[in-house]
Amino acid sequence: MTDELFRDDSYLRDCDATVVEIDNGALILDRTVFYPLGGGQPGDTGNLSWAGGSAAIVDTRYGDGGVIRHVLEEGATMPAVGDIVHAVLDWDRRYRHMRMHTAMHLLGSVLRYGVTGGNISAEKSRLDFDMEDTVDKEAVGAALLKLVTEDHAVSCRWITEEELDAQPELVRTMSVQPPRGKGSIRLLEIEGVDLQPCGGTHLHSTAEVGTVRIGKVENKGKHNRRVNIHLDD
Ligand SMILES: [Zn+2]
Repeated sequence: MTDELFRDDSYLRDCDATVVEIDNGALILDRTVFYPLGGGQPGDTGNLSWAGGSAAIVDTRYGDGGVIRHVLEEGATMPAVGDIVHAVLDWDRRYRHMRMHTAMHLLGSVLRYGVTGGNISAEKSRLDFDMEDTVDKEAVGAALLKLVTEDHAVSCRWITEEELDAQPELVRTMSVQPPRGKGSIRLLEIEGVDLQPCGGTHLHSTAEVGTVRIGKVENKGKHNRRVNIHLDD
């Protein structure tokens, strides 16, 4: 398994690592700061360099057995297994994902309905809610900005599966249940606002979300309201 440095510190922008395996245009490293596609958040992109070469990383995905695959641009030169490489994130893009992802948690705490889907990108993000009511865009936008302005601390902690089973209300996302079988589950806590199982990368404080705005609200069926959000910078 790849050592996931971004789990403990989502603000790491680069790291040194050793090439463990080369698999069909993708590199598997012993450790990485690159987040792999999951939980609605895109895989990271960036750059890899080593003695004698460099290449762009165009996507990051989980492979079999919990390894993380760094997908290189087509036709890229490759380091060799055992080589030390320096991996650098496209930090601007990743930081927007962190702002968006944290904003999604805030949105979910404002609209307290079941979440049936979601997607994050650097430009816009969306959450699908299991609700019949009309979404009051202005009120939701104002509530969101209030949570940003109040600057709540954001942190992660781990609980056991038994502790989670004792508090089923923690799981608001109905389509995405937290991964089981590892014994412990990662919880994302926004102090006084939200507590949810989540494996993504987040900010340290809600103030960093910045200028978030509610975009289009779409009716996707009787029981589904899709709420889009944007960052205005
Ligand atoms: Zn999250």
